[in-house]
Amino acid sequence: MSQSKKITIGVFIDAFGWDILKNHSFLDDILITKKPVESVLGYSATCVPTILTGKVPQEHGHLSFYFYSPKTSPFKCLRPLGLLPKSIVNRGRVRNLISKILKKLYGYTGYFQIYNMPFKYIHLFDYSEKNDIYERGGINNGTPTIFDFMRDRSIPFHKSDWRKDETVNFNALISELKKKEIRFAYLYWAQMDSILHDETKDGSHIPAKIKWYEDRLRKAYETARENYETVELFIFSDHGMCTITEDCDLMKQIETAGLEFGKDYVAVYDSTMARFWFLSDKARPAIEAVLKKETRGRILIDEDLKRYHCHFADRKYGDLFFLMHPGKLICPSHMGEKTIGGMHGYDPTSTDALAIFASNIKPENLPQKLTDHFKIMADSVLSGLETEKASA
Ligand SMILES: [Zn+2]
Repeated sequence: MSQSKKITIGVFIDAFGWDILKNHSFLDDILITKKPVESVLGYSATCVPTILTGKVPQEHGHLSFYFYSPKTSPFKCLRPLGLLPKSIVNRGRVRNLISKILKKLYGYTGYFQIYNMPFKYIHLFDYSEKNDIYERGGINNGTPTIFDFMRDRSIPFHKSDWRKDETVNFNALISELKKKEIRFAYLYWAQMDSILHDETKDGSHIPAKIKWYEDRLRKAYETARENYETVELFIFSDHGMCTITEDCDLMKQIETAGLEFGKDYVAVYDSTMARFWFLSDKARPAIEAVLKKETRGRILIDEDLKRYHCHFADRKYGDLFFLMHPGKLICPSHMGEKTIGGMHGYDPTSTDALAIFASNIKPENLPQKLTDHFKIMADSVLSGLETEKASA
């Protein structure tokens, strides 16, 4: 084999926050760099496009799944379901099935889930992740991803299939490494996030899960070393996890404001953030009055949204944002009916929210934010190809 070949491996572990990593041993003999990384406002639907493009939310256009857009809503056909009893249509299994049918019907390739959005209002909203963001053109405003970077330069690469489970994706990586053809690999692991949602950071299954990742990554690293001259491993996450301490029925409070949903205002209640669009003059003052009394969260002013790089010029994701304080869960919300152990999507600068970066090398410019991973991976791949060319 050629002795100058280099492989760059990016490993994404959903919700593996700094708060968790710093309290566990994790490939300590291999990873000489471990550090916290600032996340972004929002959820994985915001963070992953940020990592993949190196751009902030207001540039790549992804923030949350639902946004107000009755004209383009693909959900008009679901409106009659609003007449059925809640006990039937709010079942998880029923909603999963409807999501699957719609996905197939419309040919959506992205992560598509209707979650807990009430059927009587769903026709007012459109959905932001209809396309597979890992494929070309998947990012809403066309921003290229790290995979497009490789595609544009005809650099052979491998990426996990985000629909497949962690073992399948791990095995696929190992077999690709053995072929010695690729220069970039991207491993996607998401199960940690669901364990953390269930049992939060001190849950009984967390240490075993970390050990599982550790063992697999050691194997991947060794396989890479056996097949390539140089191996650069970058491990990162999208956000951390915050333990839920209290539920807040914000929806009910807003319903006391004397306004009509769909006529005066519309709202999306994410788990940690409520977003409002004002349709009548009386809506903003009435809703603001309710929100100002709710001390478990705060209205995000323009300055906050600019600081979080979520200041969308077209106000696509809402005229007003209300963000809960860490640990306070909007429940019920349009994401779920029941409370959970942990949640993310609070102030991205809070300790629980910090994501991670870890590597077997010490990059010259250490990443500070999620947007920095793109350049680290791209530079690593390019420098390998240059060395390869020089020694050919
Ligand atoms: Zn999550």
